Amino acid sequence: MGEVINGKELAEKLQAEIATEVSELRKKGIVPGLVVLLVGDNPASQVYVRNKEIAATKIGIHSKVERYSADLTEEELLAEIDRFNKDEAFHGILVQLPLPKHIDEEKVLLAIDPKKDVDGFHPMNLGKLFAGDPEMIPCTPYGIMKMFEAYNISIEGKRAVIIGRSNIVGKPMAQLLLMENATVTIAHSKTRNLAEVAKEADILVVAIGRGHFVTKEFVKPGAVVIDVGMNRNEAGKLIGDVKFDEVEPLTSYITPVPKGVGPMTITMLMQQTVEAAKRQS
Ligand code: NAP
Repeated sequence: MGEVINGKELAEKLQAEIATEVSELRKKGIVPGLVVLLVGDNPASQVYVRNKEIAATKIGIHSKVERYSADLTEEELLAEIDRFNKDEAFHGILVQLPLPKHIDEEKVLLAIDPKKDVDGFHPMNLGKLFAGDPEMIPCTPYGIMKMFEAYNISIEGKRAVIIGRSNIVGKPMAQLLLMENATVTIAHSKTRNLAEVAKEADILVVAIGRGHFVTKEFVKPGAVVIDVGMNRNEAGKLIGDVKFDEVEPLTSYITPVPKGVGPMTITMLMQQTVEAAKRQS
């Protein structure tokens, strides 16, 4: 039977620690600030932004959400980013993705001052991470590394398989595990014999975006399974990429969905905002 990693509980504990640090910083006149830019009315984005705002307020971070209509031009958005790059009250800038199709996401990410890029998506920050000298780390893989640490899950020498190769989850996850001396494989939609590849993993991280895709055939007995997926089933219920009920008995540790990776992502965003504030002050 696998131990279920309680991401919600760990996130609450870490957020309480961050709140203590923020109150110390406030005594020194440093108020960490985070601005979130939301373009359009994507319902999932609205929920994510709201959750970020709630967490920031709870922790004592000065937070602001700038909402723009879906017809905001690329030029106007770039001008807004420039305004916040210069605004010393905000140490972190986050542009909620996805953006409307007429706006070039890459251009927007490039426009954010790397020092304020608390999501860690700027090519400069990704480059530093891949050079082995990270400053801002994409929050989801960063949160997963904190889970390994909190649950004393050793990484060195382990065989890790990551399914998914996005710039925001799969690739930085691979690099973070590599930095901790795992032997890493990145699998994707063109991988042959995916279940066999996954079954070699001591640590299996799944970030695909397909509900209940990973079944017991993908999992080696005793493996650690991390489920990043967030999908809605026909009933509208939030489900992961892993078929939890049949996989869990095989694992040593497993994350649930919800209350797994999700709350940790938000927590690391707060942590990086505080770190950014300290560096900028
Ligand atoms: P993404 O950019 O869509 O990437 C998905 C990856 O999965 C791609 O590399 C793709 O391969 C691979 N893939 C798709 N179908 C596959 C298949 N049948 N077999 C093997 N690989 C397959 O997604 P993402 O942004 O990384 O997000 C992945 C999931 O995590 C989503 O459900 C998302 O909602 C969730 N997520 C959760 C959090 C959180 O905080 N919990 C944060 C971020 C994302 P190719 O490259 O070959 O196309």
